[in-house]
Amino acid sequence: MEKVVIIGTGCAGLTAAIYAARANLAPLVLTGNMPGGLLTTTSIVENFPGFPEGIDGYELMTRLQKQAERFGAKVKFGTVESVDLSRRPFTLSVDGDPVQAETIIIATGAGHRHLGLESEHLLDKKGVTYCATCDGALPMFRNQPLVVVGGGDSACEEATYLTRFASVVYLVHRRDSLRASKIMTERTLANPKIKPVWDSAVTEVLDVQQDKVTGVRVKNLKTGAESVLDCAGLFVAIGHVPNTQLFRGVIDLDENGYIIPKQGAATNVPGVFVAGDCSDHVYRQAVTAAGMGCAAAIEAERFLAAENQ
Ligand SMILES: Cc1cc2nc3c(=O)[nH]c(=O)nc-3n(C[C@H](O)[C@H](O)[C@H](O)COP(=O)(O)OP(=O)(O)OC[C@H]3O[C@@H](n4cnc5c(N)ncnc54)[C@H](O)[C@@H]3O)c2cc1C
Repeated sequence: MEKVVIIGTGCAGLTAAIYAARANLAPLVLTGNMPGGLLTTTSIVENFPGFPEGIDGYELMTRLQKQAERFGAKVKFGTVESVDLSRRPFTLSVDGDPVQAETIIIATGAGHRHLGLESEHLLDKKGVTYCATCDGALPMFRNQPLVVVGGGDSACEEATYLTRFASVVYLVHRRDSLRASKIMTERTLANPKIKPVWDSAVTEVLDVQQDKVTGVRVKNLKTGAESVLDCAGLFVAIGHVPNTQLFRGVIDLDENGYIIPKQGAATNVPGVFVAGDCSDHVYRQAVTAAGMGCAAAIEAERFLAAENQ
């Protein structure tokens, strides 16, 4: 019987683990198929407080894990396949084995929606990225033309943010108007550095031969005409998919699948808490996920303390 099971070892899960372990709860922390979470896929993190020179994403997550283990967290490679939250103790099936838990912290993160192009995959992190806040300031993108794909609030925010660094930002959207809120649409279209490319889709990222982004091939969906936009970076901003399918029908989710927190880090099921990008469609940053992990662990600890555990 575990007092706390933490599902996920990204910034949210491992920060929750540090707090729960320091509260003597010896949390079991399950990695899923991406130990260390999304940040392990990036080379340099420049906006996590405390690292003035930046830090390699993998190194940062290794340090978080060591910090949690130092205080007694048990980090175990395993994926939660199903959960029974109908009564306490809760039961999780982890790679076929049952695990019982008094409380659970869900920190399963969210994945980016991809365009689904082979060239996009091959040039990932070689100019293709999914986060302007994370990567926009990198030297490779400075004073260069950049392309953002998408038409919602996120795409507009990314495009606007990138105008600080880019020479010009092409905003490629499938339709002839943006889906974003009115104010965001107006602000985006009024920005002289943003050039909308309407009714269009990116069909190929160039240049796989050179192993870096030099441009994108764009197809006008109305006329069928193809053209090439020269650019040093492609920022894909067509949405995220929270990893919450396991909890559908049990934990309250919004229409996009994000867990709806109640009173801080609680969920609609007493004893189940949530942290990080699986419940955050607004900020999606390492430090905000870590902060939410801290909050979830403190709430789990208080929940158990109220039951004299
Ligand atoms: C390329 C890239 C660069 C980035 N750069 C920055 C940056 O510079 N600065 C910044 O602040 N943010 C950056 N981010 C965003 C940052 O990575 C995320 O905001 C952060 O990782 C969210 O943490 P999380 O713990 O909520 O989720 P994640 O990091 O996504 O971790 C989710 C965890 O849950 C696990 N999991 C999922 N399902 C299950 C299951 N069924 N059973 C068990 N475990 C499961 C996964 O294996 C993983 O360990 C970047 C993201 C990417 C993709």
